[in-house]
Amino acid sequence: MFGMDAEDFLQVKDAVRQLVREVVLPREEEIDHTDRIPDELRAAAADMGLFGYALPEEHGGLGVTMSEDVQLAFEFGYTTPAFRSLFGTNNGIAGQVIAKFGSEEQKKTYLPRLAAGELIGSFALTEAEAGSDPAGLRTTGRRDGDEWAINGGKRYITNAPIADLFVVFARTDPAERGGRGISSFIVDARTPGVTVGPKDKKMGQSGAWTAEVFFDDVRVAADALIGEEGRGYAKALTVLSRGRLHIAALCVGMAQRVLDESVAYAATAQQGGAPIGRFQLVQAMLAESHAELLAARSMVVDVAARYDSGEDTSVGPSSAKLFCSEMVARATDRAVQVHGGLGYLRTTPVERFYRDARLYRLYEGTSEVQKVIIGGALLRAAGMPRG
Ligand SMILES: Cc1cc2nc3c(=O)[nH]c(=O)nc-3n(C[C@H](O)[C@H](O)[C@H](O)COP(=O)(O)OP(=O)(O)OC[C@H]3O[C@@H](n4cnc5c(N)ncnc54)[C@H](O)[C@@H]3O)c2cc1C
Repeated sequence: MFGMDAEDFLQVKDAVRQLVREVVLPREEEIDHTDRIPDELRAAAADMGLFGYALPEEHGGLGVTMSEDVQLAFEFGYTTPAFRSLFGTNNGIAGQVIAKFGSEEQKKTYLPRLAAGELIGSFALTEAEAGSDPAGLRTTGRRDGDEWAINGGKRYITNAPIADLFVVFARTDPAERGGRGISSFIVDARTPGVTVGPKDKKMGQSGAWTAEVFFDDVRVAADALIGEEGRGYAKALTVLSRGRLHIAALCVGMAQRVLDESVAYAATAQQGGAPIGRFQLVQAMLAESHAELLAARSMVVDVAARYDSGEDTSVGPSSAKLFCSEMVARATDRAVQVHGGLGYLRTTPVERFYRDARLYRLYEGTSEVQKVIIGGALLRAAGMPRG
């Protein structure tokens, strides 16, 4: 897969870096307090094409490769995760299902408007008893003449309160078990029977909204089905894998930010008449975070190249997500430690990132799930039969 011209991409990357560091970063505290991304920032992201950077060029996106995607994510990761989250579902889990598996008609109808930021798409897979094992989902899609009737409930759905459309996963073949018999649908958020719950109160990532979504005899036309009936689960796995690598890169960006904050603080904050950076145990914390950050960034770049070449689209992304999300947890923890008591106070950036980072080990597959994916794949490759 080839993305845009290298020079054009560098310009996009520089513009993103400038937007993130000069426009979004100074408003982080406001975003945290108000729990919303200001309209001007949404407009700036749309103007720059950020709602569709990973969507195909022929449908209005920038069509970046995975290697380019992670470079942008390094930049997005440097500020509050809520900014990226606003356009994350359009480029990622929701938009990619339509881009990769949708009909020409669906692509033409939705992708240009998603890429322009006119529509927000949400990915509705997780349910109360189907999170790490989404194949156990209970939402149903029943064929009724020319329509599908969708019934069920989803939870923790990113951008649900502002979504214009949902990519919904539902079991269409009750006789099948596990991943088989699950289909995916495009459901307009205004369709009668769709209800979005109040936004969830979360530990961190303020400004990024999630909510429950209920489908009560929601009627959609036959052409709302994405791709082949009964193949929705496989589609979900494909886009989640791409999303995992993107998240790994976001973690790298965040680790860089908290390290920069920590170095700046250690160089100036005084104890006993000298900067705390003079203490070698403080230097050790900075050094550990730096070394792990370098390892994580190299890993992401390497895994992205293998993703683009098609060599590894599963174990590599899972490994990167596992390592980088655990790495940023250690990095934010050390950053709080370097800041001492100040690190525990609200309004200190590292305190906010400490809470924000916690999500990365949970969503798009917990650390335990990544380990199961990696370990299982290694053993299958060695010929171990499936249990
Ligand atoms: C802020 C936020 C945003 C989200 N956005 C979306 C979204 O947009 N769309 C969407 O569909 N979902 C979304 N999710 C859901 C997210 O992907 C799930 O929360 C996640 O996959 C974990 O599922 P669960 O919460 O049901 O936890 P569980 O699966 O119940 O996990 C609980 C514990 O059991 C462990 N566990 C479970 N199964 C295994 C196993 N087989 N082996 C070992 N350990 C296991 C887990 O690792 C974890 O420690 C979001 C979640 C959050 C918190």
